[in-house]
Parts: sequence; C-alpha cells; structure tokens
Amino acid sequence: MPAQLLQGKPIAEAIKSEVAAEVMGLHFRPGLAVVRVGEDPASAVYVGSKVRTTEELGMYSEHIHMQPDITQAELLNIVRELNARNDIDGILVQLPLPGHINDREILEAIDPAKDVDGFHPMNVGRLSQGLESLVPCTPAGVIEILKRSNIEIAGRHAVVIGRSNIVGKPMAMLLLQENATVTICHSRTRDLPAITRQADILIAAIGRAGFVRGEHIGENAAVVDVGINNVSDKDFAAELFSEEDLPKRLAAIEKRGFTLVGDVNPKEAMERAGSFTPVPGGVGLLTVAMLMKNTVAAAVMRRGA
Ligand code: NAD
Repeated sequence: MPAQLLQGKPIAEAIKSEVAAEVMGLHFRPGLAVVRVGEDPASAVYVGSKVRTTEELGMYSEHIHMQPDITQAELLNIVRELNARNDIDGILVQLPLPGHINDREILEAIDPAKDVDGFHPMNVGRLSQGLESLVPCTPAGVIEILKRSNIEIAGRHAVVIGRSNIVGKPMAMLLLQENATVTICHSRTRDLPAITRQADILIAAIGRAGFVRGEHIGENAAVVDVGINNVSDKDFAAELFSEEDLPKRLAAIEKRGFTLVGDVNPKEAMERAGSFTPVPGGVGLLTVAMLMKNTVAAAVMRRGA
C-alpha cells in the first residue's frame, strides 16, 4: 500500500486560525520585525510570506530591508533598537547574512524574550533543560505534523538525519521531550541505512535532494522530509518521481528551470513508508505558521495576556 501523505496545508491553516483567534483576544497587537539584508531571492520570498502572514493574522509587521554593504555595527544597532521597543515582540534576522557579517554575534544580540527563531543560546539551553522557551520553527512544525496526524511519539524510535543548530539538534531535543528514543545521524555516521531502517519516525534534514532512499526506510515508518532543494536535471527527476508525478515536475523544470525536491526520494518513500510528508506541501508550510505561534507566545510571555 502506498504511504499516507501527511499534508502540511490543513495543519498550517489550523495553527494560523488558532493564532488569529488568540490575537483577537489580546488587549494589544503583537508585533514582529523581520530584518533582511541584501537581495538573496529565496530570502525575499520567505520574508514576503512571513510579513504577509503576520498581517493576515492581525499582528503588526515591520520589514527592515538593508543594503548588503551594511556594517556589523549598523546591523547590531538595528537589533538593539528593536530590543528596546515595546511594540515589537518578535525579532527575526533572516539568514543567510552576507559573508562579512558575523551572524552569531547578531543572533546573540537579539533579546532572548524576542527571539522568535529560537536560535539564541539562552533559548537553546532552556529547550535542552525542558524549560519554557522559544523553539526553532521548523522542528516545532514537525512535532505539530506528527501530533496532529496522530502519529505516536512517546516510546518510539525517532531517527534524525542531520545535526544542524537550525533543524537537526533542536529536532532531536523536541523528540526527546516528547519521550521518543532518539538517535542522531550525520555525515560521519557509519552504515546509515542500518540505523535509519530501525526508525519508527525518520526525520531527514540533510540538504541533499533525494538522499534518503528506500533502503533507508523501515517498513511503515513515518518519514518527515525537511529538505528543500532545487533539481534541474530531468534524468535525476525521473529517478525521484512516479510516472504519475513526473510530467508536472518536468514541466516545472521546463518553465522555471527547477522543481522543488526534499531530502527524501519521494517515489521510494511512497513505496516503503507508512506515512510521508510531501515536498512542497509538507513541513515547509509549517515553518511560517510556527513563527506566528512563537510571536504570540513571545508577546504573551513578555507583556501578559
Ligand atoms: P545543514 O547543511 O546545516 O546540515 C545538514 C546536516 O546533514 C549536517 O548536520 C550533516 O552532518 C548532515 N549530513 C550531510 N551529509 C550527510 C550524509 N551523507 N549522511 C548523513 N548526514 C549527512 O542543513 P540544515 O540547515 O539543517 O537544513 C537541512 C535541510 O532542511 C535543507 O534541505 C534545508 O533547505 C532544509 N530546511 C528546510 C526548512 C523548512 O522550512 N522546511 C527550514 C530549514 C532548513
């Protein structure tokens, strides 16, 4: 039987409705500031979607777009000014930043109480100790997909491929908090398929298109694909997609020059997994929804309901 598709859209919509309802009940309007530097096209799309959604849900949104030659000191000043403003509850500095900027110093300058990306060491530490904290949006979205799809986490073996600070590590921490038995795999892991095949829940956050193949997936596993990659090679696309899906993927390559592919081979995942998050249409949609949830949470924690 083919895997059940875990669609992100209804879950993201439900979370956004919950956030909008919560915002309506507040005696103030939560505010999110998004800082973008330079002209990275993907960042422009992500920021556009974050700004639009913030407004749609009844919150105040501020988009600060700076030239790529901004200095470290100028960017630090922007963050400090946002820290000091009472109308701003969440601050997000869109990554990647230009090479001359020390992004660690910028992220650490954000007030942890306004750190809606959850990347500040204070929030990372609090998460690892199981304390209330602002949690990175993408892994938090994965937990929402699992829970709202009634996929049991407690007591089950979750294997995370990837150990980045943005996805892999916080993902593992959140799964641990949900009482999964967690294994983290990475580029130095030996015999990866032997480990990943043991997973009841397999999370792929690698950054390599179609990397996770059928041989990595245990029968009936829930497979969550965090990856977002562009594929422009038509022969490679033919290895990734079923006969049914291939024509529209090839048409996308013709039209835009690429098609979006996760870190999992979707054709093989559909054959082996019990359930599977599609790309696009899976985890990616949850990231913005969780950012909205974090913004309201940050506002309520700081200002009271
Ligand atoms: P990253 O490059 O920082 O980390 C990749 C991880 O994969 C590393 O920890 C590395 O050890 C591991 N890895 C690399 N090669 C491997 C191999 N051969 N075997 C096992 N592990 C290997 O990437 P990231 O920022 O964590 O992002 C991962 C993916 O998630 C990317 O495709 C990215 O585009 C996507 N992403 C999606 C969202 C979203 O909103 N859906 C958000 C963030 C990242």
